[in-house]
Amino acid sequence: MIQLFLPLNFLGFVYREIRRALTDLENMLGLLNKKPQVTERPNAQNLILTNGDIAFNNVSFSYNANRPILNDISFKINAGSKVAVVGASGAGKSSLARLLYRFYDVSSGTITIDNQAIDSVTLNSLRSAIAIVPQDTVLFNTTIRENIAYGRPSATGTEIDKAIEMAHLKDFISTLENGDKTLVGERGLKVSGGEKQRIAIARAILKRSPILIFDEATSALDSHAEQAILNAMRAVTQNHTSVVIAHRLSTIIDADNILVFNKGELAEQGTHSALLLKNGQYAQMWQLQQQED
Ligand code: ATP
Repeated sequence: MIQLFLPLNFLGFVYREIRRALTDLENMLGLLNKKPQVTERPNAQNLILTNGDIAFNNVSFSYNANRPILNDISFKINAGSKVAVVGASGAGKSSLARLLYRFYDVSSGTITIDNQAIDSVTLNSLRSAIAIVPQDTVLFNTTIRENIAYGRPSATGTEIDKAIEMAHLKDFISTLENGDKTLVGERGLKVSGGEKQRIAIARAILKRSPILIFDEATSALDSHAEQAILNAMRAVTQNHTSVVIAHRLSTIIDADNILVFNKGELAEQGTHSALLLKNGQYAQMWQLQQQED
């Protein structure tokens, strides 16, 4: 009986693996078949990064013609500074980040990096200048280490170790029997939202892009997890131009400038203390969150 069971069991395993591979392939082809939202101009030049200054000039945007999402937005982000974007859910914060990475094109206005319109440069040069830590990171069905290395496949082992350390992942990894060789993703270890974000931060560190976009997860993190992410963020935002989309205002009080969005409009901007003095929308949000805490 056992002689029959083992080969059948093995055949079952092979069958499941082939089906899995086919599903992955289908998913990949599905992605490839999608019509690109943006196209590169035939004469596009590579982005020449001098400082990493970003400017939004009278930017309006909508996904569908009949529903405006961002309305005549203008602001500047100085090279090396940290800018926070805050506002109610649905205010258009993530859309702003998607425009900067050119997942979509603006409906009107321009976005420039070091005075070059982002729609006039090659997509490759634009996207290698920017690292994104998204709200919901996709983890591939492979090891934690390979998931991090994806940030820059040519990175050395030492560089990966350094990124793990800077992203404050070392303690978490040391609790796993197989360390950073542990499989994660759909078919591997389930990791928490905070751990996932730190894996994404390690990826971003490895990418070594001068501009960093950090889209903070909405999920309420406990204060220990939040502190770990904050420490990781501080490490990665040093010497970078960074845009932090934040839900918890306590995480961005040290930002050089805070942009407050309301229903697609830039309602106010300033430092934490200047906005509190102004006693406007930011001050209201701050008081509300303090009470909740
Ligand atoms: P949150 O704080 O909840 O992440 P947000 O301020 O980042 O919200 P966005 O994600 O920019 O808001 O969304 C702004 C508006 O655009 C929302 O009303 C949303 O429903 C809409 N929207 C977002 N993505 C798309 C899309 N792909 N197609 C159509 N509408 C979209």
